[in-house]
Amino acid sequence: MRILNQQNFKNQRAIVRVDFNVPLNEKFEVTDRTRIEAAKSTIDYILNKGGSCVLLSHLGRPDGCDPKLSLSHIVKTVAEVLDRPVKFCSTSVGTEAEAASNGLDQGEVLLMENLRFHKEETSGDVIFSEKLARLGTVYVNDAFGTAHRAHASTTIIARFFQKNKCFGSLLEKEVLAIEKVMDQGEKPILAILGGAKVSSKITIIESLLETVDHLIIGGGMVYTFTKALGGKVGNSICEPEYCDYALELLEKAKEKGVQIHLPVDVLAGNDFSNNANQQTFDVMNIPEGWEAMDSGPESQTIFHELIITCKTILWNGPMGVFEFSNFSKGTIAVGNSIAKATHEGAFSLVGGGDSVAAVKQFGFENKMSYISTGGGAMLESLEGKTLPGIAALNE
Ligand code: AMP
Repeated sequence: MRILNQQNFKNQRAIVRVDFNVPLNEKFEVTDRTRIEAAKSTIDYILNKGGSCVLLSHLGRPDGCDPKLSLSHIVKTVAEVLDRPVKFCSTSVGTEAEAASNGLDQGEVLLMENLRFHKEETSGDVIFSEKLARLGTVYVNDAFGTAHRAHASTTIIARFFQKNKCFGSLLEKEVLAIEKVMDQGEKPILAILGGAKVSSKITIIESLLETVDHLIIGGGMVYTFTKALGGKVGNSICEPEYCDYALELLEKAKEKGVQIHLPVDVLAGNDFSNNANQQTFDVMNIPEGWEAMDSGPESQTIFHELIITCKTILWNGPMGVFEFSNFSKGTIAVGNSIAKATHEGAFSLVGGGDSVAAVKQFGFENKMSYISTGGGAMLESLEGKTLPGIAALNE
């Protein structure tokens, strides 16, 4: 892995692929700067070493050129976060784009227009990639969120830089965090998987069985397992067509010496709403008319006892319908237990959409070792796939 400090930036124009796919409100103001802040360290590094930066990003999923998704809306915020002026170019390829990038002096920053205004970006078009490559002398990828896509700016462009290409510091941190769990985790290694459906986590579960010592299964996935084991699931979310598969996984786990932990009790509601009547049931015996939406108190205690003994912890997916405050206790309890384990020296990685949202919502952000910024990219890494954006930098 070639990283920032192995690359010379003096008098170089660095093309930095960032992930500025930020949310905008109806006045086109940035409502969450996290992704811009996350790219600051790489940009500052390059500028401090005497380079200039040509920033490439996508925003949303435009169908052709869509002024609502112009990156011009975010220039002011990028300048505030970087605490320096930021120039903008209203296209990302061609004469005007090349003139703007050629005109950059040391220490200057230029943001190019939304890459996805060109369909060639997502199709990974080689000619378009070569045009992008003309914007700089060095290529830096710092966009973990799109590293699982073989797009022009994330993957194909790297072909046009033999040696002059490297990982940005955010991308480096993401890759190291995943390696720390999947390849170099200190034992005991625990994965906590929640979320809605077994079907969306199959490859991750299989991949994790090769790595972990313990696997806690929570959230809506639980009821496919308990049904397979002969339990009554009431109105709980369940994928009966995956019951055989759930049994196979339990068998496979046994063969590999991985201990699977399901909740023993659940908090159910008589309706899918925050204000539903609540009752706690044995996980194997949920009556008709009741839908399990969180883990119960006994499970929370058992999970806590396990979590605090583990040295490496991966968390993906909430333990229940955490969006309903009355069914969020199981998710908060797991967050608290991981925070305690982390405080006592464990390495914890939180990744994949909703668990990151839960961690932020419940204030655990600074209590985990690492929180991944890339949903899909993180999930594909956990599935054991090599991400094309990362492979391209290593070629
Ligand atoms: P995922 O994207 O697969 O991680 O799923 C996250 C979603 O799973 C969240 O929106 C949760 O509300 C939902 N979820 C978690 N537990 C349950 C459950 N017991 N019943 C229904 N939905 C659930």
